Amino acid sequence: MSPLPSVDAVLRLPEAEGICEEHGRAALTGAVRAVLAEYRAQNAGVRPEEARILHEAAALLAEQSTPRLTRVFNLTGTVLHTNLGRALLSEAAVDHAAMAMRSPCALEFDLGTGGRGDRDTVIEDLLCDLTGAEAATVVNNNAAAVLLVLASLAARREVVVSRGELVEIGGAFRVPDVMRAANVRLVEVGTTNRTHARDYEQAIGAKTAALMKVHASNYTITGFTADVGEAEVAGIAHAHGLPFITDLGAGSLIDLATLGLPKEPVVRDCLRAGADVVTFSGDKLMGGPQAGLIVGRKDLIARIRKHPLKRALRVSKLTLAALEATLLAYRKPDFLSRDLPALRLLTRPVAELEALAGRLAPNVQDWLGDAWSVSAIACSSQAGSGSLPSAAIPSVALALRAEGKSGKVLIDLAQRLRKLPVPVIGRIADGALLLDLRCLEDEAGFLAQLV
Ligand SMILES: *Cc1c(COP(=O)(O)O)cnc(C)c1O
Repeated sequence: MSPLPSVDAVLRLPEAEGICEEHGRAALTGAVRAVLAEYRAQNAGVRPEEARILHEAAALLAEQSTPRLTRVFNLTGTVLHTNLGRALLSEAAVDHAAMAMRSPCALEFDLGTGGRGDRDTVIEDLLCDLTGAEAATVVNNNAAAVLLVLASLAARREVVVSRGELVEIGGAFRVPDVMRAANVRLVEVGTTNRTHARDYEQAIGAKTAALMKVHASNYTITGFTADVGEAEVAGIAHAHGLPFITDLGAGSLIDLATLGLPKEPVVRDCLRAGADVVTFSGDKLMGGPQAGLIVGRKDLIARIRKHPLKRALRVSKLTLAALEATLLAYRKPDFLSRDLPALRLLTRPVAELEALAGRLAPNVQDWLGDAWSVSAIACSSQAGSGSLPSAAIPSVALALRAEGKSGKVLIDLAQRLRKLPVPVIGRIADGALLLDLRCLEDEAGFLAQLV
């Protein structure tokens, strides 16, 4: 067998020049070596041309320089889809984060005195204004917020939680596990379906550090149930000189009923009912970047801020900038459902989605051909991320069906859609592939791919 071409011979080809200009000589040399090594390993007795090696090396470089984190069309019907990145940010948040990336910014710098500042200052006043809290701080996500609150206020002591609230959130956030990680002993009270005030009372002892409520984000308990409201748990905690902590999960800054959406707990109401510390996510219903917001009593927030974990869980300037711009949008409540994509998508009128479906259906039909039928149907979107758990939001989908064909055909079509330049993610239900249009705003970009 003749030997494989040499690396030099491949790099001497005139076409190598352009590839070098794009990727650099070192990268191209590495890729040529990798391709040659592959041929050597296969040991198939073929001697590929130099040009062929170069072509394969160029393809390898192109593949290696394509980002893994690709943009997709979320047509799943889940607006705050954790696996697709949850809330989309407002233009103002994107611009503000871009500013923080491009320029030095007064992150921990007091422009008044010229001395050192605290990065919490950027958002603390805003958060206090919007929630009625005395103080506020922020960490990487709500799981981190819960961990930090427990570690700061209750390490080596006990926290009392109702058995009906021992939540597991997708992606391995489980209240008992977080308690253990924070070195806190969980004291479960009540039963799965019923917990009474006396259950909390009886659980309080010398080692109790706090009472806690966790919002049942992603499930509901119905039937023969009893739950002790926030004000009452707060009353019990305060009668014993203990703080009352609430993990609100999605937690909204405004009453979503004013936007025609189902009710979700409002952070301000929770504090008013007596919670001393409330934690919630930045990228769920609030519509901002991934973050864990902690608001509440000044003395408790001060303790939380001093804990060494705070430094480990702190947010970056990108997060802080996006968060600040998102919170500023809440200063103009009249425009929230225009300016914050999360709220805009959740409140998009069905009539608008019907019109969109009418425009798209013929194009999708042409793209799929006669073997498929495309129809606009009524369906239900959901908020996702454990917000508004039992609320179905009326929506419109394109239902793609292949007459008399099995599920395999739908699975293949779903894969074909995922292979488009901007992958389209739908869901399979009732013998059809459904493309829920609630989150499709880039109509032209979607259509441009159907060729
Ligand atoms: C979503 C959620 C969490 C986790 O929040 P992340 O921001 O995803 O870390 C914790 N508790 C509750 C009740 C939640 O709904």
